[in-house]
Amino acid sequence: MKILISGGGIGGLTAALCFLHHGAEVTVLEQAPKLGEVGAGIQIPPNAMKVFAALGLDAALAETAFQPLSIEARMGRSGLELFHIPLAEHAVKRWGAPYLHIHRTDYIAVLAAALRAQSPDALQLGGEVAGYCQTEEAVEVRLADGRRITGDALIGADGIHSPVREQMLGAEKPIFTGNIAWRAVVPMAALGAHAPRPTACAWMGPGKHCVTYRLRRGTLANFVGVVERDDWTTESWTERGTREEALADFADWHPTITRLLGEADTLYRWALFDRAPLPRWVDGRVALLGDAAHPMLPFMAQGAAMAVEDAWVVAREVTQKTSPARGLEAYQHLRQTRASRVQAGSRANAKTFHKRTRLGQLATYGPMWLAGKFAPMAVHKRQNPIYGHDVTRLDK
Ligand SMILES: Cc1cc2nc3c(=O)[nH]c(=O)nc-3n(C[C@H](O)[C@H](O)[C@H](O)COP(=O)(O)OP(=O)(O)OC[C@H]3O[C@@H](n4cnc5c(N)ncnc54)[C@H](O)[C@@H]3O)c2cc1C
Repeated sequence: MKILISGGGIGGLTAALCFLHHGAEVTVLEQAPKLGEVGAGIQIPPNAMKVFAALGLDAALAETAFQPLSIEARMGRSGLELFHIPLAEHAVKRWGAPYLHIHRTDYIAVLAAALRAQSPDALQLGGEVAGYCQTEEAVEVRLADGRRITGDALIGADGIHSPVREQMLGAEKPIFTGNIAWRAVVPMAALGAHAPRPTACAWMGPGKHCVTYRLRRGTLANFVGVVERDDWTTESWTERGTREEALADFADWHPTITRLLGEADTLYRWALFDRAPLPRWVDGRVALLGDAAHPMLPFMAQGAAMAVEDAWVVAREVTQKTSPARGLEAYQHLRQTRASRVQAGSRANAKTFHKRTRLGQLATYGPMWLAGKFAPMAVHKRQNPIYGHDVTRLDK
């Protein structure tokens, strides 16, 4: 069976590795001439790590990542701790795999190296997918440079502006959330006493929040800061803003935040759009995966993790059912409800993090503080349905 994959991001590369694992041949078509060097960190939660364990890549990812010791929530200005709960060994015990923080460039590098090792010609850079057509027997991809490639199924893992989705379902109408996300990565050595702790820390404030954590074996600090602003609306990994603007957005915040922003050489910003769940992800021999299928706000740190789960399920179903189209239908059936729930949960979290009034803060952060103090494991328990999920279980 020959599988074509449009997009060589986290979703597309993981899908390629999952299809190889299940015995299919793959071709990954990535429009970029070289693999993305995105200056940002990303969290790999246990539900995604279980797929990487099944692929034999968990050690390679862990080697270049950082394993946070705890999760924390703090107030953005005062630094007041709302809760501080151990995570590292608890993640493995409770959910069956570690929780990691990794640089996106390192993440992609581990996946691409594994793919090249197993199938040296599978990844084709500079291959921009322009469209597809299909018959009962095959699917054909048309590239922007005029080439045509035929396979048994096509997976559209080409992100939020997916051309495969646009052909399948028409142009989308995303809704701007009124939030932008700042991103920065700074060497820990530059931060002195104000370096972020070795935790996953969410800092809350009126109309904004941010998350700090460490990357690359603890040598880098990562910042993602979400601010309610409507003066700017581009979705991009490469769009830059100025340090002054970022510092103005977080003026009077805790020195951990202001020092980090002050030391950042480059500050990227990304406008956050919301999209309703799609009615379907599959058209015959073609299916969507990852952000192409279920783009979500980043407030649960699960977007890429959902793409990784999709990757395992689509590869298993397509290689085990009697036809690719049947396998893709089964994949959609198994994945759509879960991904839509996580999409909705991510949307709801924005409201939790940005409480503006004293009363709203007390009503939200008070119970958080109480739970952290008297029932810390209840905070972890709430994550069981997300982190405890194991899409590889059926194959064991
Ligand atoms: C600020 C922020 C923080 C986040 N933090 C987390 C986190 O901590 N944990 C988490 O799990 N998720 C997180 N996410 C979400 C995560 O980044 C995405 O869900 C994930 O990158 C989706 O992967 P993907 O492979 O589906 O799409 P993408 O990463 O967008 O990859 C798509 C690929 O397709 C390629 N492509 C596009 N068009 C074409 C074409 N025509 N032909 C060929 N190739 C094409 C692109 O070049 C790209 O390489 C965050 C998102 C944001 C914005």
